[in-house]
Amino acid sequence: MQILKGIPVAAGVAIARPFLLEREGFACPLRRSLSEAEVDRDIKLFREAVEKTAEGIRRTKDKLIRRVGKGHGAILDAHLMILKDPLFVDAPIEQARRERVNISWAFYQTMQKFSQLVASVGDAYLRERTNDVEDVGWQVLKYLTGGEKRSLRNLKEPVIVIADDLTPSETSDIPRDKVVGFATMTGSRTSHTAIIAQALEIPALVGAAGLRDVAVGDGIVILDGGEGILILDPDEATLEQYRRQQRVSVQRRKDLRKMTSLKTETSDGRAIGLLANLELPVEAPAALHGGAEGIGLFRTEFLFLNRDTIPNEEEQFEWYRKVVQQMAPRPVVIRTLDVGGDKFLKSAGEAREMNPFLGLRGIRLSLAHRELFRTQLRAILRASDYGKVEIMFPLISSVEEFRQARGAVEEAIVELRSEKAKFDEDVPIGAMIETPAAALMSDLLAREAKFFSVGSNDLIQYSIAVDRGNNSASYLYQPLHPAILRLVRMIIEMAHASKIKVTVCGEIAADPLAGVLLIGLGVDSLSVSPVSLTETKRLVRSTSYAEARVLAGEALTLPTAQTVRELVSGRLGTRVAPGS
Ligand code: PEP
Ligand code: MG
Repeated sequence: MQILKGIPVAAGVAIARPFLLEREGFACPLRRSLSEAEVDRDIKLFREAVEKTAEGIRRTKDKLIRRVGKGHGAILDAHLMILKDPLFVDAPIEQARRERVNISWAFYQTMQKFSQLVASVGDAYLRERTNDVEDVGWQVLKYLTGGEKRSLRNLKEPVIVIADDLTPSETSDIPRDKVVGFATMTGSRTSHTAIIAQALEIPALVGAAGLRDVAVGDGIVILDGGEGILILDPDEATLEQYRRQQRVSVQRRKDLRKMTSLKTETSDGRAIGLLANLELPVEAPAALHGGAEGIGLFRTEFLFLNRDTIPNEEEQFEWYRKVVQQMAPRPVVIRTLDVGGDKFLKSAGEAREMNPFLGLRGIRLSLAHRELFRTQLRAILRASDYGKVEIMFPLISSVEEFRQARGAVEEAIVELRSEKAKFDEDVPIGAMIETPAAALMSDLLAREAKFFSVGSNDLIQYSIAVDRGNNSASYLYQPLHPAILRLVRMIIEMAHASKIKVTVCGEIAADPLAGVLLIGLGVDSLSVSPVSLTETKRLVRSTSYAEARVLAGEALTLPTAQTVRELVSGRLGTRVAPGS
């Protein structure tokens, strides 16, 4: 039995055979244990791949000579020589036979050793040949894995996918009934793979670097997505323990599913809106599945990150339309770009800032890059023709800022009107309340905005002056801090005085203790990630609004986060425990 650790990203237990996903251009082939016959077949394929590569090089050489003359074929002769080198070709065959592993993995090891050897030679000309080695090596691998390539689409039985990494399109194409879990070698908690795994509710872990060095056979493996553990060759006792755990969680999921048809209202009949937070269009089905009445926060920045260019209007329009159409007729609150802080655009050429969280972040960046803002607003407005869209601005810190941003929407409306484009002329425009300044100005902002959405992640960070991503200061990051409760009370009271509604879309909306207090403070809707929808509904349904109001009133008089926590957990007791 072998246990590998990764980063847990989507809870749940999966027990199945592994499926090693290899593809062209993957970063590093996976090591697999094979039978002797399989090794023989693999070696045959390898010899063919080497021959096909050589043929390809010879064809290119002929073409080159025809075009530019004989002398220029020499570089390709060097490539052909590499392919004939026994160190390059015979060594991986020997290793594959000796260790009974797949040839692509053995060949990749050889390729690396060979490049290191060439690079270590004193001669500068020879050192340059490292690139040739890699170039030739990747061509062989391309033929090899092209031949071996197995698709996720033709799976016959449930599997746990093991890969170096998965692209967003691969992950979103996953057949939900056949892929019961996945583990990748790279990736982080916030990578696309992680988000999609959560959205599809497939147990998953990422960043399991140890997978590079082990041989994964064909036997059953266990994936525990909650703990981020992959167990190879489990013993009988471990297998039984996980089977039991799996039965419990399946039953629990079924119980929660029954919830989706029930109303989201407190036990004494106060309706609370249940909305979802979304980062990618592929998450929309999970939001619907979980019973979301709409999208309370569509974080648009995911389309802009990790790329060299800014998406144009058409690309953005398609991205937004996908979500709006899937959710229709339910509303989708699209938040304009929120970069800066800890998310940066490669393409905007922003100056390095000393304090990025206090710099050109959120709406400030959009107002400073008007063309970027205009393009996004046009795309959002055009998507409004496909369902119900609302627009909201991140990091508002003054009334002028809100007016300027709203002015930009009005300009985009005038433009689109003159182009006779189809869109909703009355799209509601709201403000995120996530700075203390916005909270303190909420009475006046409520006269300008059509709705408020409390971004508690940032409101906590900016009010308590604690970096939300800094682990050493995380003890200060207290969602139940009385200062936060007081600010939220003020925001809700001011909004209601102007007859506008308040959603809370930060992480506290999904926290049971904070959730009860938010209900007591009079919040209209809670917007949470798709995985938290049913749990949040359960919490609302088990809460009495009258009791929650009294509880929130008491909490507001307490001096510390700790005493608030004790008060609420003491009063709710087992009601906030999962499964009750
Ligand atoms: C928030 O700040 O609470 C919020 C929802 O926005 P983000 O987490 O994207 O900053
Ligand atoms: Mg925020």
